[in-house]
Amino acid sequence: MKNSAINWTDNTFNPWEGCTRVSDGCKNCYAQANDKRHLREKVIHWGKGAPRRKMTDAYWDQPVAWNLKAEQDGVRLRVFCASTADWADEEAPAGQRERLFQLIKKTPHLDWLLLTKRAENIEKYLPADWGETGYPNVWLGVTVENKKEGLPRIDILRKIPAVCRFLSCEPLIEDLGNVNLNGIHWVIIGGETGRGPSKKEVKNSGKKLNGIRSMDLRWVDSLVKQCQEQGVAPWVKQLGKLPLDLQGEPLVITYETKDGKMKRSPNGENWDQWPSSIAHLKVREIPDFSQAERDKMESSLSDLAKGLDKENAEKELQLRTQLLETDKILFTKRKYRAEIIKQYHDIYHPLRKWDAFCRAADIPKRTSYDLLKAARENHAESAQKEPKKKDVITPQKAAEKAKASINRLLKGLKGAERNEALKLILGEFDAELNKPTETEHAPSENTRAEQGKLITITPAA
Ligand code: SF4
Repeated sequence: MKNSAINWTDNTFNPWEGCTRVSDGCKNCYAQANDKRHLREKVIHWGKGAPRRKMTDAYWDQPVAWNLKAEQDGVRLRVFCASTADWADEEAPAGQRERLFQLIKKTPHLDWLLLTKRAENIEKYLPADWGETGYPNVWLGVTVENKKEGLPRIDILRKIPAVCRFLSCEPLIEDLGNVNLNGIHWVIIGGETGRGPSKKEVKNSGKKLNGIRSMDLRWVDSLVKQCQEQGVAPWVKQLGKLPLDLQGEPLVITYETKDGKMKRSPNGENWDQWPSSIAHLKVREIPDFSQAERDKMESSLSDLAKGLDKENAEKELQLRTQLLETDKILFTKRKYRAEIIKQYHDIYHPLRKWDAFCRAADIPKRTSYDLLKAARENHAESAQKEPKKKDVITPQKAAEKAKASINRLLKGLKGAERNEALKLILGEFDAELNKPTETEHAPSENTRAEQGKLITITPAA
C-alpha cells in the first residue's frame, strides 16, 4: 500500500500544487524546480499571485480507497500532506483547504501528517470543529531547518492542540543548539537533497548561488541525543547529498552496484551503507502513541478539573497522577484502578460530571460501571475483615506525595527552568528547616514520644 518514496510515510497527498518561498529551507525546493520544468502544465505555480494547480476529482478519491484498504487490513496508514505545496499557504485555491479537512474526516483509518513552514497560519486555517484535542487522525508538524526561522515555529506548534506534534528538521542547514521539545512527539531529521541550481541558473543569476548545503552529523548527533533525553521519537531519514562526518569532514557514502562498480549514494538514505562510526545514528522511531494518548487524557482531565474547589482540586491532581501511571504499567491490578475510579466518582458524581469524566478519561460507560462495582465490593470485603485503620502519615509517605505533586506541577518545565523552580520551592522551606525541631527542644516532663503518635509540646513553666 506504500506509494510514497519518503521513508516515514505510506502515502503522499497534495490538495493542490504550488507555493511561495518563505524561508531558508525553501532555497532548493525540489517541487519548484520540477514546476519550472513544466512537467504537467505550461504555467508557473510558484510565487506570490501565481495560480496553484488544482487536482482532479480522481486524485481526490485516492485517499478514500487507501482508507478502505487500511480498514480491511486492520492497519493505520500515514499520509503526508503536502510534498509539493504547503497546506497553510495563504494563496490556497478557494475551497480546497476546506475540502481537505472534509476528506480527512471521511478517512478515519488514515493518519494525516500536515506539515507547514507557515506556523503562524495554522490556527487560523484549522477547521471550526477542531476541538480541544484536535482531530484524532491529524498530526501537526512544522519545518525546523535553522534557529532563526525554525525554532520560533516550535513555540507556536506546541500551543496548538493535536494528538501528535512533529518537527521536520529537513533540510537541516545548521546546528539547532538546545531545543525545547516539550509537547513534541516526533522529530524527523534529514539533509538537503535534490539537484540544486543548474549551471545555467547560476550563470543567469549574475551572482553566485548557493548550491546544496551540507548537513553536519554532529548536529544530527546532538538532536538525536536531545530527543532521547526528552522522551521524543527521532527519525533519521537520510544524510543528504553532502554530509559531513562527526569530525566535520566530507563523508562520501558509496555502494556497490550489481555489476561490481562503486557508486556514490545520492542522499545516504540506506543505512546499510553507512560507516560503523555513525551506527548510533541509525534510529527511526515512531512516536509512543500511548504517550500521546496520555497527554490527551491529561489535558482533558485538567480542563474538567478547572471548576473544582481547592480541596477537591488537590485530590484530583493526585488521582490524575495515579490514573495516568496505571496506563503505563502493564497488567495494572484491577483493584487499584477501581479504587482510583471510585475516588473520582466521589468527586464528580455529586457535581453531575461523572459522564464528562468518563469521556475525558476515555473509559467506556460499561467499564466504569464494572470498576465502580468492583471498588464497592472491595470496600465491603475489607470492612468485614478488619476495622478501618487510620492512615498514618510517615515522613516517607509525605515526601513521596509531595514529590508526585511537584513533578506534576513542573511537568512543563525543563532544564534550567525546572532547576530554578525547584530551588525556589526549597527556598520556601529554608527558614523552617533552620528552626529547631520539637525533638531539639530541651526535653520537658510534658514531652511524650510515643512511636507513631503526634508529639505535643507544652513549654515547661
Ligand atoms: S514551503 Fe515547501 S513547497 Fe513551499 S516553497 Fe518552501 S519548500 Fe517549496
